[in-house]
Amino acid sequence: MIYDREYETMPRDELEQLQIERLQTTLNRVYRNVAFYRHSFDERKINLEKIKYISDLKELPFTTKEDLIRSYPYDMFAVPLRDIVRIHSSSGTTGKSIAVGYTANDIRHWSSLVARLLTAGGIGEHDFVQISLNYNLFTGGLAYHYGAELLGASVIPASATSDIEKQIIFMKDFKTTALISTPSYALAIANALDDLKIHPDELYLKFGLFCAEPWSESMRTKIEEKLHLIATDNYGISEIMGAGVAGECQEKNGLHINEDHFIVEVIDPKTLTPLGTGEEGELVFTTLTKEGFPLIRYRTGDIASLIEGACPCGRTLVRMSRITGRSDEVMLVNGIKIYPSQIEEIFLKLTNRVPRYLIVLGKDQEKDTMEIMLEISGIEALDEMKNILHYRDRLQQALEAATGVQSKVLLVETDTIQRMETRSKIIDRRCE
Ligand code: ZN
Repeated sequence: MIYDREYETMPRDELEQLQIERLQTTLNRVYRNVAFYRHSFDERKINLEKIKYISDLKELPFTTKEDLIRSYPYDMFAVPLRDIVRIHSSSGTTGKSIAVGYTANDIRHWSSLVARLLTAGGIGEHDFVQISLNYNLFTGGLAYHYGAELLGASVIPASATSDIEKQIIFMKDFKTTALISTPSYALAIANALDDLKIHPDELYLKFGLFCAEPWSESMRTKIEEKLHLIATDNYGISEIMGAGVAGECQEKNGLHINEDHFIVEVIDPKTLTPLGTGEEGELVFTTLTKEGFPLIRYRTGDIASLIEGACPCGRTLVRMSRITGRSDEVMLVNGIKIYPSQIEEIFLKLTNRVPRYLIVLGKDQEKDTMEIMLEISGIEALDEMKNILHYRDRLQQALEAATGVQSKVLLVETDTIQRMETRSKIIDRRCE
């Protein structure tokens, strides 16, 4: 099923024409209404009349998270505040906040874009959709809620509570057919089913839409096996819109980007030059229809690539790969690129869980070293010392095989890492 056939299957040349028209409107709007963009364009002597093709976009400067932090709360809004009907906010890993605003039109577009992705994920008006995402200043819960209601589905706003058993009770009592959550929360539900000795067939689940954190193909397989559903990946970022930016269809081979509302570019995060289809780099988005909070060439920090070729589902919208990491998290160890997500993948393979961990990079003579600190609590199989040592050795071998970097695993007591109060997963001691 395709929710919005006209736009989702639009011939590419028509789509590009639509994009350029919408881009020109957006550029004029931000130049008129947002001092940041007016100054930024004037400073670079950019003549907006000359932006005639999508390829001209590269003449324009990037917008960064720091720009949004500096303009907190309202300086990037492009409409008078009386026209804003919703505000969301996030504080990233730095702890500094950004705020985004939506007009009534923005909310309408947002809901219909989410409805597209729900449909692509298999959900229809007859489904009971349990939304186990936070309902607060984070965009996730409310975005899926509005989209699912627009679709005509029955919405169960369960939110992401710490009481997993309660989630399972909702699923049984309300006969939930679709689950929307983060992948790790879905896995926690699956593990709780095991603990409670509930067979997944006692539930009614058919579809799962997962979002808000990077996950892997093997995690998908695990969730599908344990919950007996079809799991699809979704991508959103609150600066751009929240959920609704991109999502997988039933082919499960990349996420279709809603290109009639967003232009996507992939750039090399170091040189900032645009990369071609298939090349992995940082995602950059330009919004095309947003009134409240339009952004030009926003650097997301998320690493992915665009996928070549048409999708058998019939959608003509380009697909992106899953997010493999963050541009600020990529580590170059002895010349080899490593993302924390690769390491989490290994934890998952060995124990079905991702424990709390920290990567410590150091130097021994001229060579980089990698040490993984890992809290062993919560891994049931590790109640005996010999199991612990065996696990450590297996982990060390698996890490070296996957990354090509000699690594050391240091198992630590519960809360050791939490007490260190580091916000990053990586401590780089190589330059100290
Ligand atoms: Zn498709």
